[in-house]
Amino acid sequence: MTNQNEQNEVPQCPQCGSTRQKKTTAAEHTIKFILGGLGLTGCGIWLLMFPIIGIPLIVIGAGAFLFGLISPFAGGTYECQDCKKLWSPKKSAK
Ligand SMILES: [Zn+2]
Repeated sequence: MTNQNEQNEVPQCPQCGSTRQKKTTAAEHTIKFILGGLGLTGCGIWLLMFPIIGIPLIVIGAGAFLFGLISPFAGGTYECQDCKKLWSPKKSAK
C-alpha cells in the first residue's frame, strides 16, 4: 500500500490523546443496534405480564432498532483502548 492518507495521521483519542484506537465501522454499529433493539423488544414482550418493565423495554428496543437503521455513525467510530471513550473522527468535507 503506497497510497497513504493525505494527512498520514494516527487517530488520537480526543479525551486522553492515546493512539490505541479500535475502529468500528458503521455496519457493525447498525448490526449491534438492530440486534440489541430486537433483543430488548423480545424481552419486553416476554415481560408484558409486568407492563411497568415490559412496555419501556419495547419502547427502548424499538428506539435502538430505529437508531441502528438510521446509522448515525455513518463515518464509523473509534473506541479508545485506554479510556474506552467512543468518538467519531471529524467529518472532512469532500
Ligand atoms: Zn482515550
